[in-house]
Amino acid sequence: MASREELMRELAEEVWSCRKCRLGSLRKNAVVGEGSLEAELFLVGEAPGRVEDETGRPFVGAAGKLLDRLLADIGLEREEVYIGNILKCRPPGNRRPRADEVEACTPYLERQLEIIQPRVIAPMGNSAAGYLLKRFGYEAPSISRVHGRCFEAEAPWGGVLLFPLYHPAAALYAKELLRILEDDFRVLGGILRRLREAP
Ligand code: SF4
Ligand code: URA
Repeated sequence: MASREELMRELAEEVWSCRKCRLGSLRKNAVVGEGSLEAELFLVGEAPGRVEDETGRPFVGAAGKLLDRLLADIGLEREEVYIGNILKCRPPGNRRPRADEVEACTPYLERQLEIIQPRVIAPMGNSAAGYLLKRFGYEAPSISRVHGRCFEAEAPWGGVLLFPLYHPAAALYAKELLRILEDDFRVLGGILRRLREAP
């Protein structure tokens, strides 16, 4: 059987040459995702922004710096988790992903989830929470109503917890959202600690 590394490399090559939606011809670089292929926590953002499009790496702009700090606060480095996005290519002007783009691109995310088989999936922001809650059979109201709550789900590889979060970009310029996001990360840290103690 192919290793996680081999499966992820194969997937990355498909993504790099993908033209399944209009964004494929607009990108500089597709952003597959990065992190540990053994990660217990899989963080899912919306789509690459400008810096991500230029570098081919997820969450390396201002929102990424905040994400790194939030992870560090709960004792995690970005290398220990996996960070991906709903869309692998940047929408022009960072507009919201369109439904047909999400439909075209999310099979890649599904394969990433199956390769990594995380215990906890944390969708960040409305796009990611909307897709993943529905994907696992939940209703998906606005992130303001579901952030910081735990949703149990049955994935093909076993039980997972969905833990929606505000998107770090939303917290960059809104102090009250930043405080909520920090609180939610602390809860997330506690969940991961408990999972490690009682596997
Ligand atoms: Fe392919 Fe996804 Fe990029 Fe669209 S956004 S071209 S589906 S990789
Ligand atoms: N915002 C996202 O949703 N994803 C990234 O990779 C960067 C910013």
